[in-house]
Amino acid sequence: MAARAIRGTVARFQSDPFGAAGREALVFEEDRLVVIEDGLIVSVGPAEAVLASLPPGTPVDHYPGAILSPGFIDAHVHYPQMEMIGAAGEELLAWLNAFTFPAEARFSDPAHADEVAGRFLRELLRAGTTTAAVYCTVHPHSVDAFFAESERFGTRMIAGKVLMDRNAPLDLTDTAASGTEESAALIARWHGKGRQLYAITPRFAPSCSEEQLEAAGRLWKAHPGTYVQTHLCENKAEIAWVAELFPERTSYLDVYDHAGLTGPRAIFGHAVHMSEADFACCHRTGSVLAHCPTSNLFLGSGLFRLFEAKRADRPVQVALGTDLGAGTSFSQLQTMNEAYKVAKLGGTTLSTAEALWLATTGAAEALHLSDRIGAIEPGREADIIVLDPAATPLLQFRTAYCRDLTEALSVLMTLGDDRAVRATYVAGTPVYDRDRAGDPFAYPA
Ligand SMILES: [Zn+2]
Repeated sequence: MAARAIRGTVARFQSDPFGAAGREALVFEEDRLVVIEDGLIVSVGPAEAVLASLPPGTPVDHYPGAILSPGFIDAHVHYPQMEMIGAAGEELLAWLNAFTFPAEARFSDPAHADEVAGRFLRELLRAGTTTAAVYCTVHPHSVDAFFAESERFGTRMIAGKVLMDRNAPLDLTDTAASGTEESAALIARWHGKGRQLYAITPRFAPSCSEEQLEAAGRLWKAHPGTYVQTHLCENKAEIAWVAELFPERTSYLDVYDHAGLTGPRAIFGHAVHMSEADFACCHRTGSVLAHCPTSNLFLGSGLFRLFEAKRADRPVQVALGTDLGAGTSFSQLQTMNEAYKVAKLGGTTLSTAEALWLATTGAAEALHLSDRIGAIEPGREADIIVLDPAATPLLQFRTAYCRDLTEALSVLMTLGDDRAVRATYVAGTPVYDRDRAGDPFAYPA
């Protein structure tokens, strides 16, 4: 028996919009019924026809005028930095010392980690994000706090303990040995438990000794299916520092490559200042770049060259990230808005289809999760969001002038934020309902 059905217009990709089909790759299928059983999508079809075949009594959530999208995927975000969003005035390295490390040090208190993890998960869901690649702190209990809350909501999350054995305050450092041991214990505890996935998380090359990076590479190799996440080529001063710290390596990316940290399921945040050899290495190894435009603009790091990364002769996998707390919004709609502007400043145009792809279907593909999430199609896990093109008086007014749904989605990417997310379904359960009286959040029964 079907547990539930959702009715509305479904946004779906027929192919990769960076490929030959271009913006035609995105289609809107009007008045569809998405039937969900045991957390999985079992069928999608014309509402009238499918309704007739539904077992009587199946609850149907109908969203006229809304767009059903796969839940957003955020490929790079730091949950401990939620309390320092908008910490202004510095570039990357000074910003880390002035704001980030003191905020992360407060996670020595497990109760603080529990509280922030709870708030963070709710903000993700409010923004329509159902999967994220999340940095915790150096403290293993920060990872336990995050995964425990993710498990309560049933979300598919990727997260890991930050590894840092140098160039950070003493209370935030581990060692190559202790970091490996703690990460291995967390992998045993969480990787593949329900929907949780582990990411080995060396913060960035300057905060990790060569010994620690190599240990991380060995740990990754020993645990197939886990992820690696770290930072790459974000800021020019950072890149110069890496060159000083690793004089024998040919580039920042070569530091990771040499340590065995490139390959499928390796996610590199930023990649703003990349050489042709760097892009070629990412293409060759199947590594993923997380484009974080709101962060790159806030810290003045630079402009990511998306269309250079996606060059047809050696395309690199790219997904969108918010990079909170340097990023300025939980909303992937706002992240698409800034990605559009960053592309424009680089003399290129990011289409609506391409922008949505980078935060949904394309991100799932990049993260090797496309058999599970990233599309509203039979067999996928039912992580679905309901986008409301009339969420605010201004959106309602503006959307009335749209010629088609692609334009309405483009307007949502410009004017929309968490207010435009009417509901968030995780594995078929509406864990967030914007208009629900009282608490809009609910754990699945
Ligand atoms: Zn980051």
